[in-house]
Amino acid sequence: MIEIKSKREIELMKEACRITALVHKTLEEAIRPGITTLELDKLAEKVIRDNGGIPAQKGYPSGVKGVMDFPATICASVNDEVIHGIPSKKVVLKDGDIISIDLVTYKEGYNGDAARTHIVGKAKQEDIKLVEVTKQAFFEGIKFATPGNRIGDISFAIQEYVEKNGFSVVKEFQGHGIGRQMHEDPGIPNYGKPGKGPKLEPGMTLAIEPMVIAGKPDIWELEDGWTIVSRDGTKAAHYENTILITEKEPKVLTLY
Ligand code: MG
Repeated sequence: MIEIKSKREIELMKEACRITALVHKTLEEAIRPGITTLELDKLAEKVIRDNGGIPAQKGYPSGVKGVMDFPATICASVNDEVIHGIPSKKVVLKDGDIISIDLVTYKEGYNGDAARTHIVGKAKQEDIKLVEVTKQAFFEGIKFATPGNRIGDISFAIQEYVEKNGFSVVKEFQGHGIGRQMHEDPGIPNYGKPGKGPKLEPGMTLAIEPMVIAGKPDIWELEDGWTIVSRDGTKAAHYENTILITEKEPKVLTLY
């Protein structure tokens, strides 16, 4: 069931989303060669807690026997890691790396979810293109995030834009509704057909999140049970915002 949020719920969502955006801004300014992903994680947790929030991903159940619950505030995925990378003091960022950071703030019963990919130090031209196309794919998708359109319209627009630019979308993971729960209905794939899927209505809150691989779309899960990498070893990028469907244009709630 897709929940339609009340005015009061939307105000609470905005606050959780504001904190998520603030954390991303803080991390963007902190990312440099030499910093570890664990240092970024500590910084993110501090900003969330200083603002009265709770890191929603910390302790998120793996649901798999023998695999630990997610141990950190942020997912930090470097280079060929697509999503769900675990912050570590052993992962030291170096010049030319790319890092995707995904994080969710929980406050007063509601969640705000967003992801960004950054280039560390000096950028390679092909990496700039990957990061830009992934971000733009989100904005191409939300052109269709208006009442009467369907989820498939968003999905198709994302896939078409990414593939037109010579990259691949990940099919095993997808965007989602968000609110009281981090993951709610509907699922929002980054591929699909126009005119298919649930119809959009004002008051829906959705996390739309293109995950893009420079090479082939196939993925692989590492032994930690969390980290997803590209199978061909090419770099991957991730861009996500929580949005609100309104009578007119969608509102992006997690922009700084
Ligand atoms: Mg996310």
